[in-house]
Amino acid sequence: MTAAYDPDNIFAKILRGEIPSFRLYEDDDTYAFMDIMPRADGHCLVIPKTPCRNVLDATPAQLAAVMKTVQIMSHAVMKAFEAGGVTLQQFNEAVGGQEVFHLHVHVLPRHEGVALRPPGKMADMDVLKAQAERIRAALA
Ligand code: 5GP
Repeated sequence: MTAAYDPDNIFAKILRGEIPSFRLYEDDDTYAFMDIMPRADGHCLVIPKTPCRNVLDATPAQLAAVMKTVQIMSHAVMKAFEAGGVTLQQFNEAVGGQEVFHLHVHVLPRHEGVALRPPGKMADMDVLKAQAERIRAALA
């Protein structure tokens, strides 16, 4: 049994436009945007537009919609950053490493020999904006 969904979590606020985000892609069911504390250049997040905490309470339809967009974003960051691969991360509940309780999948472009950066360091907003533009161009 997981806790109830909190409609005031930060990603719900992003979806409602109450706080800004660097939008990359959206469809009827999902939204993709830049992670504000990126662990790799091009680190982005994919979320469902409808509420759920994580995979433990998500519906199969929410999971399917998110993964469809994860694949789109994986191709986009591969192209935008000439990456050699992509790492996906997804955490469930605090014990599982989750900090924001709205389902999300991390999409991290990877390069040979380049380790992920430690978590928790805020990006330079001009750099993040430029990286978002590269990803959007790759999607076009
Ligand atoms: P997780 O819940 O998977 O452990 O991590 C949540 C992720 O959300 C982190 O990678 C963190 O950098 C990102 N994050 C936290 N607050 C914000 C925010 O206000 N805007 C954006 N774009 N990302 C955020």
